[in-house]
Amino acid sequence: MHNVDCIVVGAGVIGLATARALALTGHEVVVLEAEAGIGTHASSRNSEVIHAGIYYPPGSQKAMLCHAGQQKLYGYCRDKAISYKRLGKLILAVSADEVNILQQYRARAIENGLQDLIWLDRDQVSDLEPEVKCTSALLSPSTGIVDTHAFMVSLQADIEASGGAVICRSPVCGIDVADAGFMVRVTGDEEHIVSTRLLVNAAGLWAPTVAAAINALDQQLIPVHRFAKGHYYRLSGQAPFHRLIYPIAGAAGLGIHLTLDLAGQGRFGPDVQWVETLDYDFDNTRKAEFVDAIRRYYPGLDESLLTEAYTGIRPKLCGPAEPAADFLIQGPGQHGIGGLVNLYGIESPGLTSALAIADRVTAVLSTG
Ligand SMILES: Cc1cc2nc3c(=O)[nH]c(=O)nc-3n(C[C@H](O)[C@H](O)[C@H](O)COP(=O)(O)OP(=O)(O)OC[C@H]3O[C@@H](n4cnc5c(N)ncnc54)[C@H](O)[C@@H]3O)c2cc1C
Repeated sequence: MHNVDCIVVGAGVIGLATARALALTGHEVVVLEAEAGIGTHASSRNSEVIHAGIYYPPGSQKAMLCHAGQQKLYGYCRDKAISYKRLGKLILAVSADEVNILQQYRARAIENGLQDLIWLDRDQVSDLEPEVKCTSALLSPSTGIVDTHAFMVSLQADIEASGGAVICRSPVCGIDVADAGFMVRVTGDEEHIVSTRLLVNAAGLWAPTVAAAINALDQQLIPVHRFAKGHYYRLSGQAPFHRLIYPIAGAAGLGIHLTLDLAGQGRFGPDVQWVETLDYDFDNTRKAEFVDAIRRYYPGLDESLLTEAYTGIRPKLCGPAEPAADFLIQGPGQHGIGGLVNLYGIESPGLTSALAIADRVTAVLSTG
């Protein structure tokens, strides 16, 4: 049997960032990942946007961690020479009703500490983005994009440089709470048990499953994850935009928006499809809905240029007809088990918030 100071379950961006923060504070950390490589689920199937924290209720975990995480992520990218671009983002109102919503966004953003949003009228938007049709828009200059894979590879390098390890093909299948920590059962090529003092469950979509495998955890505290799949279509050729273009947000997502990758390639998505099973199959029958949604703000769209890209799945703590839920970070204060943190519902803006979530988890473990 092996023994380590700290195990993090899951090598997505949240597990890697958390393991790095723990390693930098002197803990011996091992990340156990079920897949053959790091970041193959939500962390590589998203919009790669560094959000500013506009939409979230003031005082929520999402608002606070996104705001702090954005600053940390830009700083980290600068320090480590990870590719990013502070492109800016336009949120568009295309009708009088939507202008009201845009005003609410601006008010909420100010409550969340954003001072840099700029209100633009139709002509000002046309000067910036001639292909965009709208009544008015909010410009968020601090929104950007990042090379997510390079970010995760760098986090892994930091973990390893601090004496930690990331071990793939190591699914965690059972956890017994022991006197001085946890006995973690790992399957894979062969089954073995690792004992640890601290345990972080950063298993993304599967965080409730991993939590359910902890024998002494009160199962009533484990929330149900609902799965909202999102599809992305690539826009072939040179995208006629310089910034990220967002409509008014929908009920369970930010609306079918345009993002650009670091090479300037455009893609539209994600939509919201509530699913029961976890697969990344692409449903191309949704294309007509995409075309309608995109043409509301980009009437010149040539739909033949839209090609299937990929899907991603959000772990949600709310259902289709319910208000958006917050991140849920459960430490010893909530479940009563010393040395354990469970992370649930880490959907967008989880990538932006990763370094701030990591600091939060480290603080919880140092006091719990
Ligand atoms: C469609 C979509 C768009 C998004 N857009 C943005 C965006 O633009 N900006 C933003 O900030 N955020 C965005 N997000 C959110 C962001 O991608 C996630 O919050 C973040 O990637 C979550 O990381 P994670 O590490 O929690 O999960 P994951 O990346 O899913 O990692 C969890 C890991 O745990 C592993 N695992 C599971 N069970 C076990 C087990 N039993 N044993 C060992 N390992 C296990 C999995 O294999 C996986 O690698 C988006 C998400 C989606 C789905």
